[in-house]
Amino acid sequence: MNKNYIGGKWVAAHTGATFPCVNPATEEVLAELPNSDGVDVDRAVQAAAAAFDSWRKFPAPKRGEILFEAGRLLKERKEQLARRMTEEMGKVLAEARGDVQEAIDMTFYVAGEGRRLVGQVRPSELPNKACFVTRDPIGVVAAITPWNFPMAIPSWKLMPALVAGNSVVFKPASDTPLSACALVEILEEAGIPPGVLNLVHGSGAVAGHALATHPTISLVSFTGSTEAGRQIGMDGARDLKRVSLELGGKNAIIVLADADLDLALDGILWSAFGTSGQRCTAASRVIVEHSAEEPLLERLIPRTRQLRLGNGLEATTDVGPLINQARREAVHAYVGVGQAEGARLATGGSPWGDRGWFYQPTIFTAVRPDARIAQEEIFGPVISVIPAASIEQAVAINNHTPYGLSTSIYTRDVDKAFRALRDITTGVVYVNAGTIGAEVHLPFGGTRGTGNGHREGGDTALDVFTEWKTCYVDYSGQLQRAQMAEQPSTAGEEPMTRE
Ligand code: NAD
Repeated sequence: MNKNYIGGKWVAAHTGATFPCVNPATEEVLAELPNSDGVDVDRAVQAAAAAFDSWRKFPAPKRGEILFEAGRLLKERKEQLARRMTEEMGKVLAEARGDVQEAIDMTFYVAGEGRRLVGQVRPSELPNKACFVTRDPIGVVAAITPWNFPMAIPSWKLMPALVAGNSVVFKPASDTPLSACALVEILEEAGIPPGVLNLVHGSGAVAGHALATHPTISLVSFTGSTEAGRQIGMDGARDLKRVSLELGGKNAIIVLADADLDLALDGILWSAFGTSGQRCTAASRVIVEHSAEEPLLERLIPRTRQLRLGNGLEATTDVGPLINQARREAVHAYVGVGQAEGARLATGGSPWGDRGWFYQPTIFTAVRPDARIAQEEIFGPVISVIPAASIEQAVAINNHTPYGLSTSIYTRDVDKAFRALRDITTGVVYVNAGTIGAEVHLPFGGTRGTGNGHREGGDTALDVFTEWKTCYVDYSGQLQRAQMAEQPSTAGEEPMTRE
C-alpha cells in the first residue's frame, strides 16, 4: 500500500509530503512514502491507545492464532517478499530469503506463546493463601527499527508485543519502508484488529523522535545506532518509560594458532562481507595469534579479491551495495582514517561501479587494537586484522571496545574454547562459527554500548514486552498479616484423616 497504516486504514501523511524509496544497486526510485510528522504519529498513538483495552482482553491463545496465520502468509509469500527486500535494501537474494525466514521463525515461535505466556506460582508463608505471578501487557509500544534486517528485526518486536496484548506503533527505517508495509499488510490480512498495529513512515529526527517521546507510549523498543539509542534512552528516562535498546557492535573473530584455518576463513568471509558488513554482528576485527597470521592472510586476501560485487538479484553476486550514498561516504572516510593511522591497506579501499552504492571488500592489516578503525563501528565491508601474542591477549583485545555484541573464536583446543567462553564479555559468543547467525528462540543482545541489558529473542523477549503482576488471594476469611503471623495453626480446619 506504500502508506501509513493508522486505525486500520492506509493513509497519506496529513501534509501530503512524501520521501522516495531508492534501490541502492540501481539508484532507481521504487516508491514514494508518507513523510510523517508529529501529527501523524499522534494519530497513530491515539488509535493504538483506543484499541489497547479490547486487545489486552482478547484471549492470548486467540492472539496467537492470528500470528500463526501471519506466519503462514509470510511463508507463502517468502519469495516475493525476499525479492522486494533485495530491491529496496540491496542484500543478496539468498540473504533476503534468510531475513524473511527469520521473520517466519519468529512469528511461529511467538505464536505458540499465546498458549503459554508462562508466569510463576509460589507457596505462601500463610495458610489458605495463594500466590502467583502473571504477565500483563505494558500498553502502547513504539517499535523503531533499522534498515539492515527489514523483516527480521520488526518481527522480533511486533510479534512478542502483539501476543502479549500490547498495541503497537511501528516506525521502520526510511530506507526500507516497503518490507515494513508488506509485513503490516500480512498482519492485517491475518486478522489483527484495526488500531492494534499502526505504521508510520518518516525520518528518525521527526517521526521517530515524536514517537519515542510521546507521553502515551509506555515502552520504546529500539534497534539502531548507539548514538540514537543513547538519545532515546535519555528521553525515556525523563518520562520513566521502559526503553529496550539493541545498538551497535564492533565484533571480532579470534583465530588461535591451533585453529582449522580453512574453517576460520569461511567464517571470516561470511561474517565480514555478508550483507556488505552491514550487520550489527558483522565481524569487523580479526584477532589472530602470531603464528597463524601469515598463513591466514595468504588465503584471506585472495579469497576477498575474488568476491563478486553486483545487484543482489543476480545469482552471481556475492556482495551487494551499501544502503545509500551517505553510508558509502562514511565507510570511505574510515578507510582514510585507517591509512592515516598507519594501518596497511591489503586489499580494497575504494567505491566500485558506475551506478549504485557499492564498496570493495577491504582488509587492513597490522592494525593497533586502540586504532579508531579497530574501535568504532564502520558498518561496511572493512576488516582490521590485529595480531595477538596469546589467547589471553586476544580476549583482552576483543573485550576492549565500547561495544559488546558478538565474538567468535576458532580453536581445536576444548580447554581454550571454554576459557574463552568464560572470559569473553560480549552478549553472544560462538566457537568455531562466525559472529553472525542468531536463532530466534535464544536471547539476543549485547553488553556495554550495544544496549541497556534487555534481550529481545527467546523467552527473554517476553520480559521486554510484559509487566509482571504479583497476585495474592487470601481465602482464610480472616486478617492475616505477612511477616507478623504466629506459627501457622491448623485451628478451624477439618482434622486430617486417613481414608
Ligand atoms: P539509526 O539509529 O540511524 O536508525 C534506526 C531507526 O531509528 C530508524 O528507524 C531511524 O529513523 C530511527 N531514529 C533515528 N534517530 C532517532 C531518534 N532520535 N529518535 C527516534 N528514532 C530515531 O540506525 P540505522 O542506520 O538504521 O541502523 C544501523 C545501526 O543499527 C548500526 O549501528 C547497527 O549496529 C545497529 N543495529 C543493531 C542491532 C542489534 O540488534 N544490536 C541490529 C541491527 C542493527
